[in-house]
Amino acid sequence: MRTRYWYWIWKTFLGPSRLRKKFVRNFILVGSLPLILMGAVSVYLINLTHKIDVRALELNIASQGALKAERFVDQVISDINLTVTYEDLAPIKADQYDVLLSGMMKDNLDIVDISLVCTTPDFCSSGYELRRWSKIGESQVVNSNLRNFSTEKSFLTSSGGKIFRSEPELRDGNFYLSALSPIFNTRNQIIGVIYATLDLQKIKESLSELKLGSTGYIYIVSQSGKILSHQNKDLIGKDVSNIAIVSDILKDTSLNFSNNVYYSGVSGNSVSGAGVFINSLNWVAVAEWPALESQSLIRTIFIQVTMFFLATLLIITIFASYVALKLIEPIAEIRQGTSIIGSGDFNYRVSIKTGDELEDLAVNLNKMAEHLKGLEELRDLRLKTEYLSQSLAKEKDLSKLKDQFITTVTHQFNTPLSVINWALDGLRDQDVTRDKINEISTIIAKSQKDIVAIVSDLVTLSEIGFRYQKENDKPLDLFELVKKVTEAFSNSLKIKNIKITLSKSTENSIATINEFTIRKVFENLIDNAIGYSNAGSEVFVDISGTESTLVIKVSDKGIGIPDKDKDSIFQQFYRATNAVAKKNVGTGLGLFICKSIVDGHGGRIWFESKENVETTFFVQIPRGNQGIVGGVVAPKIENKA
Ligand code: ADP
Repeated sequence: MRTRYWYWIWKTFLGPSRLRKKFVRNFILVGSLPLILMGAVSVYLINLTHKIDVRALELNIASQGALKAERFVDQVISDINLTVTYEDLAPIKADQYDVLLSGMMKDNLDIVDISLVCTTPDFCSSGYELRRWSKIGESQVVNSNLRNFSTEKSFLTSSGGKIFRSEPELRDGNFYLSALSPIFNTRNQIIGVIYATLDLQKIKESLSELKLGSTGYIYIVSQSGKILSHQNKDLIGKDVSNIAIVSDILKDTSLNFSNNVYYSGVSGNSVSGAGVFINSLNWVAVAEWPALESQSLIRTIFIQVTMFFLATLLIITIFASYVALKLIEPIAEIRQGTSIIGSGDFNYRVSIKTGDELEDLAVNLNKMAEHLKGLEELRDLRLKTEYLSQSLAKEKDLSKLKDQFITTVTHQFNTPLSVINWALDGLRDQDVTRDKINEISTIIAKSQKDIVAIVSDLVTLSEIGFRYQKENDKPLDLFELVKKVTEAFSNSLKIKNIKITLSKSTENSIATINEFTIRKVFENLIDNAIGYSNAGSEVFVDISGTESTLVIKVSDKGIGIPDKDKDSIFQQFYRATNAVAKKNVGTGLGLFICKSIVDGHGGRIWFESKENVETTFFVQIPRGNQGIVGGVVAPKIENKA
């Protein structure tokens, strides 16, 4: 069961069908392209919208922060903005100072220090602090070291009837703001100035409820670009005038707000943020949201889109593979069918029932197989007929050859036997003389020699067969072999007074050959050269060679070979007419045997001849392991051997 399951997986996804792989590939491509496109466009659009949302949110929070900071300061200032029930510019009594100042301090916990400054020179020194309540540890009254504000701009402004706010001032890691507000009597006359110092860190608490996700924060920046309030105490006082949104607003305060995405925020992380100018204070409220969090939504969406894409891709792949398998199954069957039929099994039939063009194709393939089967049967029949007629022709040839053989052999034997018969008849004569007996016995001896020659040719033929195959080879010096053969002919040479000359134009005349058969070749060629030469003539034998072959030439100045016979003299039993006239006895087997032996050695035998002038036979033999086999080709002399 498990094996089948794996087999299905292999067949469906990894199987060797190229067509199916192509189909699956294209299907996946076509299926997933719109998906990728859609996913990318969705993520892009969501990202865009999200960015706009984030900016809007940040701007909103920054505006809220600005409002809170403004309110905070306004609240304190409204607390110290007094109109008291005094009617005249009479001096305020000392115990009334304390009630007034301690009441204010209690009412507004952000006031760390509050004083009453004199503005009525008739009753006190104008610009001098009359009484101060300070929140150092616990609230306490300060009656000594009172300060002189008479020449300060803050005092002059406030004693002129306007509220004055100082630039925030950093003290012990905290920012403090001084605010001066005139005190009016019921006649709207200024009877004093309230000087209050506010702890700005309190703004932080009021801003802390403003949330930007879980990691976003809001901070206030002073006109000089320093952080006045931040959740992170360490950042208070830090110069952030290099942050674009801060510097943009501070440079051009008409620019009520500014925002930016993915820049390095105060905490050093990549953030997006928005800043809002607080008109009444000349401060900037900045909301920053770390990209890590603000982008997490996009990341989540991206992961979800990717997961969706992968899941869809998997489904597409499985589906495409399955569909491809189903579509390609019949094609695979047709392919198998064509390959089986193509390899010669015309009985094979393809069975497809898809009801479409593929089924038509299968039907046509089956028809073709049927057709081929018929053709094959026809071809078989023709081959058999051809084989039969060839066999008959061969049989006929063999029978002709046999007849020819018998006729030739009979004729060859007949000639010397008739001579012997005739000679024996002569012996039976009563008056036969000794000389006659001697003459007759010489004739009988010669005929007997002829018979031996014929028998020798027949024995050689039976020994080497009609097609010689080289065997029992050994390296042999051919020059030495030819020399030995020549010596064996010394008697015939003497009788016919023929001179034989041996020459050698190669130092190395060694070749790997079968000694017995090659000896037969030279015996035959030299025998013919002597036999078909006139008395007193000359025969030449020469051995030359290359690195790979040896060429032996046997030349004579004899009767030559007539042109009309040149094509046939290597055929068995063939004898030229001039040869029969010259040498009555001969089998016509010698050259046939020579050719068979030389061919068997991988060599060549050919000749050049002019009738009544000369004949040269050439034998080219490869040296075998004595040289490069088959290196040099003998000169091409077109005799049909
Ligand atoms: P045979 O010599 O017994 O007739 P071969 O097969 O040796 O048979 O030769 C076939 C024929 O080739 C010869 O009958 C002859 O016509 C011709 N022939 C061979 N060698 C020579 C030669 N040296 N000069 C002239 N004719 C030749």
